[in-house]
Amino acid sequence: MHYTSTRDNTLSVSSSFAITNGISVDGGLFVPTEIPRVDADFIASLVPMTYIQRARAVLSLYLTDFPKEEIEADTLGAYEKSFAHSKTAPVVNLRDNVNILELWHGPTCAFKDMALQLLPYLLTGSAKRVSGEKEIVILVATSGDTGKAALEGFKDVPGTRILVFFPNDGVSPMQKLQMTTQQGSNVGVCAIRGNFDDAQTGVKKIFTDPRVRQRLAGQNMAFSSANSINWGRLVPQIVYYFSAYAEMAAMGQIALGDRINITVPTGNFGNILAAWYAREMGLPVNRLICASNANDVLTEFLTTGHYNRNRPFHTTVSPSMDILISSNLERLLFHLCGDDSAEINRLFGQLAQTGEYTVSPALLEKIKAVFSAGCCDDEATGRTIAETFQNDGYLCDTHTAVAMTVYDAYRKATGDATPTVIASTASPYKFSAAVLGALEGKDVSGMDDFEKLARIEELTGTAAPAQLKALKNAAPRFTGVCTKEEMEQAVYSLLGIE
Ligand SMILES: *Cc1c(COP(=O)(O)O)cnc(C)c1O
Repeated sequence: MHYTSTRDNTLSVSSSFAITNGISVDGGLFVPTEIPRVDADFIASLVPMTYIQRARAVLSLYLTDFPKEEIEADTLGAYEKSFAHSKTAPVVNLRDNVNILELWHGPTCAFKDMALQLLPYLLTGSAKRVSGEKEIVILVATSGDTGKAALEGFKDVPGTRILVFFPNDGVSPMQKLQMTTQQGSNVGVCAIRGNFDDAQTGVKKIFTDPRVRQRLAGQNMAFSSANSINWGRLVPQIVYYFSAYAEMAAMGQIALGDRINITVPTGNFGNILAAWYAREMGLPVNRLICASNANDVLTEFLTTGHYNRNRPFHTTVSPSMDILISSNLERLLFHLCGDDSAEINRLFGQLAQTGEYTVSPALLEKIKAVFSAGCCDDEATGRTIAETFQNDGYLCDTHTAVAMTVYDAYRKATGDATPTVIASTASPYKFSAAVLGALEGKDVSGMDDFEKLARIEELTGTAAPAQLKALKNAAPRFTGVCTKEEMEQAVYSLLGIE
């Protein structure tokens, strides 16, 4: 199996190369040249399996240059101990044929753990094959969730170091505590005086500076990236759609061969693209429903073919979906336009220059044959949280609530009653202010964070994740704050190579 670049389809590399490098030198994203197909027997065989066994079956179709024993060890390391649910990603029936796929039982209570618990293993194995025994240094700029998930994933993984920069005033107090109390012998965390863009620009500058690279090489270290366009973050996400289908069959929700719909709360288009790969591979999927918050750039694109980032940016109660450039969309367009990298260069060149592009009517038809899309505002999100708890006894977070709202509207508009799975991307306790506000019907922003957790527990009879409650008594380990200009020096001191 080979991978190519969305911006240069003459390229041919291994999965190890794609994962080690993260992004292609031409600026494109790595994609498989052929999407593996599975048959009904393959899907039937998944039903009695554990999540780890299902992961091995799906991953080995894509990571063909990984030895079998390595995939076995990697999946065990990632999923055996760090998820609080025995099924790793359980499916919960909400009502009649609507099901919730809970992707947040990992260490940081958000779906990014599903990929970031596995990525360090995939990356260290890949890097050994591609570039020898160098120590890998992961640099992350984060606006909250990704930084913590990456820290937990890379914590104490031999052969790696991880350094995270976050905007000192740009993350929630809970998110800050999650990062500054991080344990592990190979981790470093530093706050930046500035906003997320300052942190990101600083990281990019360090990452691409030949001087810094040389200095690291002198210590037998090399930078790598854990960001969401790395193929090593996408491929673990394909697994849980197969797993969800197998669970629904095991629960008697569907018979094998029946089609399902999948609804995904979407930001960077990674999660829903994984569902599209699963569908292309032969998983019986009818429609993919893309749900957005007030940042509705994808709703417009998937219905009109016009992508336009020139619009107001909204800060919402589902912040992990506050995005105007959905990077992984590039992969979908590449596949749907027949691997035409010239066309991708044209479209994304336009996006860089003018902030917009329009795909051909033929391409739009292909998109609409599979995707539906919708969006909702914060008020509707809050209403869904309150109503879903009242009517179905199920407590969901703000991102999941966006997906539920959009799904309900889709079902009402189309009458499509196909059994459906809604991806639930975070624990409701992770976004406690908005969730509690919705339940109480009033503003609770003045309340202490840990009081909010206790109040949600009291109101709903559910339990807050232990790792969030434990933060109350945790002492911060990383108290450093630096300016954008001091970031390079901070990297050296965190790595101990001053
Ligand atoms: C990252 C994230 C999303 C968006 O996922 P994409 O793959 O970027 O579309 C949705 N919900 C939560 C809670 C997230 O952390």
